[in-house]
Amino acid sequence: MSTATMGVAANLADAHARIAAAALRSGRSAQAVRLLLVTKTVAPERVLEAVRAGQTDLGENKVQEGRQKAEALAGEAVRWSMIGHLQSNKVKDVLRFAGEVQSLDRLSLAVALEKRLQFLGTGLDVFVQVNTSNEASKYGLTPEETPAFLKELAALHALRPKGFMTLATFTPDEAEVRRCFRCLRDTRDRARNDAPQGAALAELSMGMSGDYEWAVEEGATVVRVGQAVFGPRPLPDSHYWPGAAGAG
Ligand SMILES: *Cc1c(COP(=O)(O)O)cnc(C)c1O
Repeated sequence: MSTATMGVAANLADAHARIAAAALRSGRSAQAVRLLLVTKTVAPERVLEAVRAGQTDLGENKVQEGRQKAEALAGEAVRWSMIGHLQSNKVKDVLRFAGEVQSLDRLSLAVALEKRLQFLGTGLDVFVQVNTSNEASKYGLTPEETPAFLKELAALHALRPKGFMTLATFTPDEAEVRRCFRCLRDTRDRARNDAPQGAALAELSMGMSGDYEWAVEEGATVVRVGQAVFGPRPLPDSHYWPGAAGAG
């Protein structure tokens, strides 16, 4: 059966089993890898099915959708992560629902988050987003820029850097995808030796529905999975209604 016809709970159990098997292949326990369930475009009722099945960590790519879904699921024991590109003027809104930002990709954003967190008197777990694919269209620091960035982050005391996040090259070429994952792992390993944050930089957020088993084999501690649990995302509105905004 495909992910579209199986239930959310069954798909989630299947993903957990695959993660556990891949973790064992990499010499780690299943508990070493966290499944961050990506809920973008998925209605709150279907997200709730996953929560009822025991899922607690949820990820959203856009601030407004994240806020709305977090409000719809208020009262549930869930924790939201922001995983998409974040504009500095959305910092206030993201901090209303997210307990973690995995898409920290520039100093100006770090400074904006710090300022708001100081005002709120709280801290925030962050992941530094690294561009491992060399694609100009992707956000994130280059591996070479990362050490200097970590030094700057050390002065921002409300931010708690936990590790690194990447999006691999969008290709079916396993060797290229694994190269991206290894690049992130190498970036982390160097940072753990050299960066002011040292061993606190443990996390590797990498792998999505199509490649999360490879990512776990390469050392992922967080995988960000959506479609493997919820089924394929619908195509954009412009596909269904030619002439709608965004068509062509
Ligand atoms: C949507 C998204 C994912 C999950 O992609 P799936 O194909 O649904 O597994 C992972 N990371 C980011 C940053 C995303 O935007």
